Amino acid sequence: MTQSLPHPALAAADPELAALVGAEERLQADTLRLIPSENYVSTAVLEATGTVLQNKYSEGYAGRRYYEGQQNIDLVETLAVERAKAVFGVEHANVQPYSGSPANLAAYLAFARPGDTVMGMSLPMGGHLTHGWGVSATGTWFNGVQYGVRHDTARIDFDEVRDLARKERPKIIFCGGTAVPRTIDFAAFGEIAREVDAVLVADIAHIAGLVAGGAHPSPVPHADVISTTTHKTLRGPRGAMLMSRATHAKAIDKAVFPGLQGGPHNHTTAAIALALHEAAAPSFRDYAHAVVANAKALAEALLARGFDLVSGGTDNHLVLIDLTNKDVPGKVAAKALDRAGIVVNYNTVPFDPRKPFDPSGIRIGTPSLTSRGLGTDLMPQIAEWIDRGVTAAGKGDEEELAALRGEVAELMARYPAPGLPIAG
Ligand SMILES: *Cc1c(COP(=O)(O)O)cnc(C)c1O
Repeated sequence: MTQSLPHPALAAADPELAALVGAEERLQADTLRLIPSENYVSTAVLEATGTVLQNKYSEGYAGRRYYEGQQNIDLVETLAVERAKAVFGVEHANVQPYSGSPANLAAYLAFARPGDTVMGMSLPMGGHLTHGWGVSATGTWFNGVQYGVRHDTARIDFDEVRDLARKERPKIIFCGGTAVPRTIDFAAFGEIAREVDAVLVADIAHIAGLVAGGAHPSPVPHADVISTTTHKTLRGPRGAMLMSRATHAKAIDKAVFPGLQGGPHNHTTAAIALALHEAAAPSFRDYAHAVVANAKALAEALLARGFDLVSGGTDNHLVLIDLTNKDVPGKVAAKALDRAGIVVNYNTVPFDPRKPFDPSGIRIGTPSLTSRGLGTDLMPQIAEWIDRGVTAAGKGDEEELAALRGEVAELMARYPAPGLPIAG
């Protein structure tokens, strides 16, 4: 059977690369993708990222460029900026950061000097590398002091955060993270930041789509700066934004360009504008709430099967499973689940006795499966698969993993993913 190729020019120019792209499309169609930072973008967002806008150099900002020929680019970037301001209710938006890490680095450049003290959640407790962790430039060039979560509740202890902030007087406080299954209390962070005269950066990379869709409280007006990626729950292209009050607009814009970056990626800017248009639609509110409902249903089904969840459950899109009681290390479980067509990542859990490269947990999330239309009724099925996969991992039962892979692919075929040129 001949099928029209989804990327004819690519296939003709480079069959080897086209085959790899095709294989990835197949993989994304057939598997249950549970990595909480991943998603499926719409076909329209994919098209926007593949436009000739990528041919343009546009250093500067709309109306203030260092290159001519910006008649259309200026309008595209302005569209993205205005939509970001509307969706998130902010006074200023910069849509040029290449990704989340450079966006955060720009915040350092804007509000601190090398050697200054900065504060963030520690990586093993759920924070991000760029919040001042040692191996990151942010922990090397700045004096990173770190808060964590309480041992008994696995939630942030605001007395600890306040005491640390009073003692260390950081220039910047970061809140948000990559493995935080609970609502972030932006108001509490804002109060502490104001008390110690620190700039509060709310890094909503993971939850931006939930914030946009009203399924997580907004950091406005508590945070001075909001940093976010655009490719996680927001379901846009790989990119990032920095948003702020008008008072910080100049400092942020100067830090992004010329402070840190050269020309903006205009094709990405276009796709961000489109993703924000999609995020402003009523259906995106439904999506954001469905992501959370799915995560809660999945958490409940996992608890019912004896899984130990960090903090006992979830308020958002993410569930962190501590596999200690299952006697299966996180990495072993993650690799076995991958063979079963269930894609997760191994992750440290708070106070993990194991090493970061071989930790006790796995991290899962519901943004991708919700984009494919799976609902809460299917979450017990997914919990069962995870249970069987983890048990099989412990026993080295490859037959069971292969059987699971077939069952997963069969279900996924019934829920075609956005953006994929092939049916499931
Ligand atoms: C993903 C993430 C980042 C980094 O984004 P990249 O685009 O991978 O550089 C920063 N902060 C948080 C909280 C994140 O989850």
